[in-house]
Amino acid sequence: MADPFAPNDVWLVGAGPGDPELLTRKAERLLREASVVFYDALVGPEVLTLAQPGTRLVHVGKRSGRHSKDQRTIDRMIVDAALAGERVVRLKGGDPCIFGRATEELDACRAAGIAVRICPGVTAASAAAATLGLSLTLRGLARKLTFVTAHARGSEKLDLNWSALADGEGTLVVYMGKAAASEVSSQLIAAGLSRDTPVALVESASLPEERVFLTRLDLLGLASRTTMGHGPTLLLIGKALKSCDSRIITFGQKQVFRRERGNETLPA
Ligand code: SAH
Repeated sequence: MADPFAPNDVWLVGAGPGDPELLTRKAERLLREASVVFYDALVGPEVLTLAQPGTRLVHVGKRSGRHSKDQRTIDRMIVDAALAGERVVRLKGGDPCIFGRATEELDACRAAGIAVRICPGVTAASAAAATLGLSLTLRGLARKLTFVTAHARGSEKLDLNWSALADGEGTLVVYMGKAAASEVSSQLIAAGLSRDTPVALVESASLPEERVFLTRLDLLGLASRTTMGHGPTLLLIGKALKSCDSRIITFGQKQVFRRERGNETLPA
């Protein structure tokens, strides 16, 4: 197979949601053949073990409130490594082009005359749907799928078009939405979405510590504060989530509580 790294090329690679088996074959190959990998906080730890022992692994992660490197520093590190002739992989959680600040890095590389290529990844919404065992779209009931980020800078209020998002015929997937869950819930209800719209919270989808909590829109804020841990969490809202016809709460892929047709039972 031809060498995927032309001189000075950078690859922007999707690491998927965490489970290394959810990497694309191309991503795995690029990781094996890189000389340096700049990776985010959300890249699953096992994914990094796929790099060769001599590969330099550089953490440039950002978790909200704990920015370890600013975006410009990251851009410069990538550009410098590429100009120095390294085989550069920039590894980002999920798909690099979904809430991944890819544009800044693409622009920085291109401005420096460096070609960047993109290897897509499985985004967290797809992993969460797989965890829940359901489809995010439903014929006739959920014809629209919206990905939105509810990350607000500092104490800024969320500036989203709530009436457009409060669509009973769509599925809304909220990235970076755990801290703003109460506001998401109250704004969607105020904009007309039914209080009992089904909601799922999925934390660390595809990882061993995965957790799921199913609830309804008016209880979303409470559920987010009381049921989730510290991992990355998606909020999924809409009729499509009703297809989980039992209420399942899982902790670490172990189902601990199940309610079907009003009967609460512990799993056998
Ligand atoms: N590019 C990534 C998203 C980055 S934004 C992608 O395509 O998935 C970061 C947010 O993604 C987190 O705050 C969380 O809302 C979500 N996320 C990422 N990985 C996740 C996972 N394994 N489980 C649940 N949510 C996840």
